[in-house]
Amino acid sequence: MAGSTILLVEDEKNLRKLIRTYLEREMINVVEAADGKEALELWEEEKYDLVILDVMLPEYDGWTVCKRIRQNSHIPIIMLTARSEEDDKLFGFDLGVDDYVTKPFSVKELIARVKALLKRSNHQLMIEVIEVGELKVDKKMHQAFLHDEPLDLTPKEYDLLLVFLHNQNQALTREIILDRVWGYDYYGDLRTVDTHVKRLRKKLKHMGKQIVTVRGLGYRFEVTN
Ligand code: CA
Repeated sequence: MAGSTILLVEDEKNLRKLIRTYLEREMINVVEAADGKEALELWEEEKYDLVILDVMLPEYDGWTVCKRIRQNSHIPIIMLTARSEEDDKLFGFDLGVDDYVTKPFSVKELIARVKALLKRSNHQLMIEVIEVGELKVDKKMHQAFLHDEPLDLTPKEYDLLLVFLHNQNQALTREIILDRVWGYDYYGDLRTVDTHVKRLRKKLKHMGKQIVTVRGLGYRFEVTN
């Protein structure tokens, strides 16, 4: 996954440098943060492909940073935990942590997991045709079909459908949806999301009910296999 950029948040300088060296050998770009506050500042500044996040950090701890990142992003996150923090893992999975590496770890193993996660998220973007039941989206054609009939979707409705299809069975907050479909720079009303979901549901006919409202949070595209 050469060319990817990783935000590496770790307060132990030597460990940070070591991880950086290994990542750079894989041609991965690394942006370093030494505490939680710096991490969140750097997070706002650039687009990353993955975050490596230590739990015990000065300023804000790793959980706080993770929570803040998850408010508007589904970026892969690997947490670095100490053995004594094992119990916190369940909590972390609720926050949407993708993977854990327990200290002390071999940097090689960490790099292997980084590569696996980057590959997975890249793969998701590369797939060109997504099918769920009678619903099909051809990304090359930029066209959605229901029972092989083309659906007449606006560009935003199409983007919204893609966000749901890329995040099947995951609860998505309105903020995340707004960010994914309308972008970081859009300061619109969260109700914009509701309006578009309503229209998309209608156009998807019987499949529209697979977009489930998650009360107090947002929406989830439900798929049972
Ligand atoms: Ca630490």
